[in-house]
Amino acid sequence: MADPLTASRDLTTIRTAITHFTRTLTAAGVPDAAGDVRRLLAETLGLSPAALLASPERMLTEDEHERASGNMLRRASREPVSRILGERDFYGRAFAISPAVLDPRPDTETLIATALDIVAREGWQREPLRLLDVGTGSGCLIVTLLCELPNAVGIGTDISTAALEVAHANAVRHGVGGRTQFLQADALEIETGPFHLMLTNPPYIATSEIANLDPEVRVHDPRLALDGGADGLDVYRRLTPRIAAALPDGWFICEVGYDQAGAVADLLTTALRPPQIEIHRDLAGQNRCVAVRTRS
Ligand code: GLN
Repeated sequence: MADPLTASRDLTTIRTAITHFTRTLTAAGVPDAAGDVRRLLAETLGLSPAALLASPERMLTEDEHERASGNMLRRASREPVSRILGERDFYGRAFAISPAVLDPRPDTETLIATALDIVAREGWQREPLRLLDVGTGSGCLIVTLLCELPNAVGIGTDISTAALEVAHANAVRHGVGGRTQFLQADALEIETGPFHLMLTNPPYIATSEIANLDPEVRVHDPRLALDGGADGLDVYRRLTPRIAAALPDGWFICEVGYDQAGAVADLLTTALRPPQIEIHRDLAGQNRCVAVRTRS
């Protein structure tokens, strides 16, 4: 069997390309090789996944084959499909991503569901709301919430100016650029409160665990967005003493690692003595989100 990446181009149909590329990615240890090949090939050919599968005998042009091979080589080196394509869907919207930002995960949609549920429970759907997203990255949290809550304005902060540029572009793309401000800041080093909701998906991986992550994360997500210090909780510890001032009467909603909800809830309880604290699970059933009512 000829190597798929060097196989004679003029004989390649979609069917043979799928078979060959799937073998290559499987050999490289890519978890869902067949699914990734279909997505990358469909995107390269400008077809929907359904149209791709409906025309197995269509020949690839030389140029298409070359571009598809380039994308498959990147995936074989364990670059995620989202990074190869330059965007990722989050809560039903496409977000541009770059090497400067964390690739948005479906788990993080738990924070959106929690925030929207809280807004409904508090009866805040029509109030002028102020939202803060600390460590905004691609902007997926703040931009999604502003799209879902037309009554809100928001601030996204990040240490990385390169990330802020991506977030700003995503806000403009989704029509909420006029309601969003992006500021370079570390943790809560801004004095622009008070806010109703503060969200954060901080870096929370323990430093020693980073080496054990999948290459898609370890190599391609920015370390700044992953490394939470010796036990992963450094950023929560730095944020906690500052929450009450920025959020005298609102909700703090954060993402946590699968085994961190108890420790983070303890930190927040000790610092804030909150009247309410909740832990929410993601779709995989892991404790993923801690939400705390603050009140002065
Ligand atoms: N959820 C990411 C992961 O485990 C980590 C993101 C983060 O540290 N906030 O891959």
